[in-house]
Amino acid sequence: MITAQNAKTNDMATDLKEGKPGFFNIFACKCPRCRRGDMFIDKNPWHLRNTMKMRKECPVCGQPFEPEVGFYFGAGYVSYALTVALCVATLVAWWVLIGFSFQDNRFFYWMIFNAVFLVALQPYLMRISRTGWLAFFTRYDPNWKNNPTQKVERDN
Ligand SMILES: [Zn+2]
Repeated sequence: MITAQNAKTNDMATDLKEGKPGFFNIFACKCPRCRRGDMFIDKNPWHLRNTMKMRKECPVCGQPFEPEVGFYFGAGYVSYALTVALCVATLVAWWVLIGFSFQDNRFFYWMIFNAVFLVALQPYLMRISRTGWLAFFTRYDPNWKNNPTQKVERDN
């Protein structure tokens, strides 16, 4: 029989075993509320058929993953910011490691490299943008086991 006390002890055992989930679990597309549940059905974003297939709610804490219709419209802003940040990062890395010069075409090689890099990363970027956008509106709740999730109000 599972009593409340037993359940609590089990929860603590899980925390000890797996460690307290950190902020960076978001980069693994985990639920922002419990930082444990996977948001996407297929763990590998490069399985392109399943890249955007999401769960309806968190399998661990029950957080709804589409709080309102069209919620992920705003993920585009996250995607844009991430892409700009990545361009700057590759530009600086190229500058330090390879350098730029007016005498040759290194700048254009960087542009080609950067484009290929961004396209290759696109499936992951699309996912992480959604996770990031949801994380703006959903705070990490260390006590998610005992707090009920906010149920979604739907008019349609
Ligand atoms: Zn969760």
